[in-house]
Amino acid sequence: MNEKSPHLPVVLAIGGHDPGGGAGIQADIESIGVNGCHAATALTCMTIQDSCDVRQLIPIAPATLQDQLSVTLADCQVAIIKIGLLGSLSAAEAVVEMLHKHPTIPVVFDPVLAAGGGSELANKRLIDYIAQAVIPLCRLITPNIPEAVQLTGLKGAAAHDDMGRRLLDLGTDAVLITGTHAPDQGDEITHHLYRTGNPPIRSSWRRLAGEFHGSGCTLASAIAARLARGETLLTAVEQGLEYSWLTLTHSFKTGKCQSIPGRLLRNPPQHEA
Ligand code: PLP
Repeated sequence: MNEKSPHLPVVLAIGGHDPGGGAGIQADIESIGVNGCHAATALTCMTIQDSCDVRQLIPIAPATLQDQLSVTLADCQVAIIKIGLLGSLSAAEAVVEMLHKHPTIPVVFDPVLAAGGGSELANKRLIDYIAQAVIPLCRLITPNIPEAVQLTGLKGAAAHDDMGRRLLDLGTDAVLITGTHAPDQGDEITHHLYRTGNPPIRSSWRRLAGEFHGSGCTLASAIAARLARGETLLTAVEQGLEYSWLTLTHSFKTGKCQSIPGRLLRNPPQHEA
């Protein structure tokens, strides 16, 4: 390393590719970079999608995923691992095998189970495997409400606290249930943070109009990057939420449906009207 260059912690982002650049690995790279780290990446799948919905998911061959992971981990000092869309049982198994070989690297996992447009991105077998084999290895998971419902088997009307407790019981250290999909919250969105041995923390934000593609990836990657930089879990979550909300206030439309968070506009210029 050049002595003058700053040391950037490496976050290994594992997830799928969205050709429109709204979600997935591109979202991870942008969010991790803006939050002060370098993103190394491993692809679990390709997707065919536009800003409206995912049309097809094409898993990467498990051996290719394994090779991406092992070569990167052998070469780089990875500070933290961020996992997004797994997309297939074989990808999840390859990732779990790798995590068992690197038990000291913290893991932030955004359990992507469906696309913003509604398409299913995980079947029941994969969801069960995620609950039993991936979540116990995590420092933090960041499900939205439908994902928390699917992972716990609790009904949609279940209290956040029940879902949070059930997810902690699976073995993760912390759970951030994001509130964007909650019905009837009026002008506010409330996120719930659960940590083993601590009371829950609620964080409310003004609801922004519109639908966004890649907001979950943006948030989990921002938190992972901040943890990699040494922030406490609480600070990383607070700062990650603030960054993500800001990216939504600067979102833009490239297609017909969901908007893309303005991830690279952390300190956007003030435009005079
Ligand atoms: N990763 C990929 C490749 C996706 O296609 C999607 C959703 O379609 C996601 C992640 C999750 O996107 P979001 O952050 O909007 O939940």
